[in-house]
Amino acid sequence: GTPKQPKNCGSLLEELVEKARQQAPGGQVADYIPALAEVDPEHLGIAVVELDGTVHIAGDAHTPFSIQSISKVFGLAIAMQRMDDVLWERVRMEPSGQAFNSIVQLEWEHGIPRNPFINAGAIVIADVLVSHYSASKTAFVQYVRQLSGNPNIHANHRVWESEKEHGNRNAALAYLMKSFGNIESEVPEVLDHYFFQCSVEMSCIDLAKSLGFLANRGVQPGTEQVICDARSAHRINALLSTSGMYDQSGEFAFTVGLPAKSGVGGGIVAVVPDYGVIAAWSPPLNRFGNPTRAVEMVTQFAERLGLSVYT
Ligand code: GLN
Repeated sequence: GTPKQPKNCGSLLEELVEKARQQAPGGQVADYIPALAEVDPEHLGIAVVELDGTVHIAGDAHTPFSIQSISKVFGLAIAMQRMDDVLWERVRMEPSGQAFNSIVQLEWEHGIPRNPFINAGAIVIADVLVSHYSASKTAFVQYVRQLSGNPNIHANHRVWESEKEHGNRNAALAYLMKSFGNIESEVPEVLDHYFFQCSVEMSCIDLAKSLGFLANRGVQPGTEQVICDARSAHRINALLSTSGMYDQSGEFAFTVGLPAKSGVGGGIVAVVPDYGVIAAWSPPLNRFGNPTRAVEMVTQFAERLGLSVYT
């Protein structure tokens, strides 16, 4: 729908950050690796980038943080450009109804993950990238630098290394899928790529700029570059709507109604078709692994402007 324009979008964002600051953190920061456990839980940031290039920000919108699972959106967009519909024989398009790192379905579903946004699915996508690029990690970083227009985006090597050290569950997912023939490359190489993309750091502004093409039928606003065709943009948004917020995707659709992706670094991006992209950051996570206060800021913003795609 056509969003209602508030008198001053910037001051609405300031208000939302201020409100969030007063709320309880709503959980703990991710602590499965030291580099994430050390992040200040009080960071709060939000950025809104409209299709015409207008940027609204409040709080720590310039501070880079670990994008973690938000990287799965970029990975999928690259893989869909490189591969035709046979991709969907290796990963499905159904919500999982399970935690993001769950392994149970993979056994009875013969190594085919439910969707590209749970870890198992993102590992299949990482395998696609490793198979299609001689330097998939470099390709990934170049992709996000180009989309965001920020040449300084890089991976945090400390996060990357400790993801690998603490990555036994992801390794289990990858080896189980390999046993079913759904991983082509060697598992350590695939995991190396997956952990690398999780460890990339971007700010709310970087993220909101990067995903503009999803709000604009595949064309990146500003540069007018075709990042993917309109059908792919539609499909990514559909998957984000049904699976982007893990086992809270139904509730998020119910209350907010926007395609969105979260990460355990505390980030969330939400796509508003024909309007722009919202990105918010607050490290403490709820029991689904979604960032409580960042989700709240996006929820309030979408509600105030009437942004739901389901209206
Ligand atoms: N690196 C994390 C993992 O693989 C990313 C998960 C997430 O952000 N939900 O477990």
